[in-house]
Amino acid sequence: MSESYTCPVCGFNQLTEPAYSPTTGLGSYDICPSCGFEYGVSDDDDGISQEQWRSDWIAKGMSWSSQFPQPENWNPKQQVKSLNIDKEGE
Ligand SMILES: [Zn+2]
Repeated sequence: MSESYTCPVCGFNQLTEPAYSPTTGLGSYDICPSCGFEYGVSDDDDGISQEQWRSDWIAKGMSWSSQFPQPENWNPKQQVKSLNIDKEGE
């Protein structure tokens, strides 16, 4: 039984662990294979907000971040849309 979780930064919904612990709120220290955000590190240690990371990632063309192959039918635009955030521009 494997549950999957969604990246709050880019909407990638196949994380194997929650990005942030539901109990402590602490980052998992995992790196999103999609956008490359490291929960609890990019934000807490490096001081980059999720919003900032997201817009940088989008601006750079939403490329797959992991060395592992991206899922078949991976659709970064759709995934970001699923977050229901307003994107500047279009
Ligand atoms: Zn992500």
